[in-house]
Amino acid sequence: MALSRLDSLYMAVVSDHSKSPHHHGVIEGVEALQLNNPTCGDVIALSVKFDGDVIEDIAFAGNGCTISTASSSMMTDAVIGKTTAEALELAEIFSEMVQGNEDDAQEKLGEAELMAGVSKFPQRVKCATLAWNALKKSIERHEQLGQ
Ligand code: ZN
Repeated sequence: MALSRLDSLYMAVVSDHSKSPHHHGVIEGVEALQLNNPTCGDVIALSVKFDGDVIEDIAFAGNGCTISTASSSMMTDAVIGKTTAEALELAEIFSEMVQGNEDDAQEKLGEAELMAGVSKFPQRVKCATLAWNALKKSIERHEQLGQ
């Protein structure tokens, strides 16, 4: 399978995140937003707890492939404590990066930057972006409810 072509650091970090995902589960009192990726079968249920426009807490559940789960775990690490504007900017940078269009993603995305390797595998881009799309929809829902 194509994943064997990815380098060992990438594989080690992705493997860690998929086996022991960070911020995995649900948040009591928060309605999860569910999103799926039909091309792979990944399902995510993302819970985001907001304090005003700050992402105070975040958790994900569902069933995803290795790439999807690792990307979800990295996403939660990247956005917790950020404002919605900062999180949306990160989502945009991530989306460009996995399509091979972003050169300076490193400092902002943290370990999520390792997902850059996915740009070599177009069929897996939707796995990697699923969590970020769920985050964007969660923020949109929050902003609609708040106004
Ligand atoms: Zn997948």
